[in-house]
Amino acid sequence: MGKKRVGFFKFTSCSGCQMNAVRLLASSPLLDHFQVAYWPMFETAGWSGRLDAALVEGCVSTEGELEELRRVRESSDLLIALGECAVDGGVQSIAVSSPLEEVAGRVYEHPSWIRSRRVGRLGEYVEVDVEVHGCPPGPETLWEVLISLLLGRRPRLRGHPLCVECKLRGLPCLLLEAHKPCLGPVTNAGCGALCPSLNRVCEGCYGPNVDANWPSQREVLRSLGLEDRDVDRRFRKYAAARLSEE
Ligand code: SF4
Ligand code: SF4
Ligand code: SF4
Repeated sequence: MGKKRVGFFKFTSCSGCQMNAVRLLASSPLLDHFQVAYWPMFETAGWSGRLDAALVEGCVSTEGELEELRRVRESSDLLIALGECAVDGGVQSIAVSSPLEEVAGRVYEHPSWIRSRRVGRLGEYVEVDVEVHGCPPGPETLWEVLISLLLGRRPRLRGHPLCVECKLRGLPCLLLEAHKPCLGPVTNAGCGALCPSLNRVCEGCYGPNVDANWPSQREVLRSLGLEDRDVDRRFRKYAAARLSEE
């Protein structure tokens, strides 16, 4: 089996997804099977040539990033959106709820100096072959993605909501039993119900599940005393770019 030629790319993001990939690769023999053509966390020289796969962290928030994303797409057999910023817009995409100038004006003294564009997820601009949820994706998820690359098959990522993992672990339900505003029913599985296992509600960091019943979840949260704007904030925290399209 020949080595797969891959590149890791970073757009607007916190580098947490890359850090998890580094941690996994450094603690396993996986790295021996890849030729890493580009990884700006370690090497600032540019890249060229064809890639078997591009793993792209971050959303798009500048014209330069959009240009680079299109170049990455053209040069890669597979484009993998790595983490919530890339897949759904991430935390920074909460900015899409207001005009860019207004948002910049709330933060910066000279908003006219800011050279940003509306925050967007990768799938708004190019075809994405694999969406890897999580902020950041955990080691099991990343392992599956990298192994599937080596085996030449699609990764088997979990499509069910987080509550399934929670029930499989036999955890008590924080939403129904403790009446806490858990987002498990509308969030993707993948983390192994980490927060409920620590008696904390899910905040939705694995992104919105494709079959999420938003009206029902809203009603449940309202019944716990949350106002609609608080419900909206919770729903949009990791995926405002995606949800603003619906
Ligand atoms: S998805 Fe989360 S961990 Fe990954 S880059 Fe974005 S903010 Fe950071
Ligand atoms: S605690 Fe949260 S994730 Fe677990 S079953 Fe209840 S709603 Fe679902
Ligand atoms: S329980 Fe929810 S917020 Fe916590 S890690 Fe899992 S998906 Fe993220």
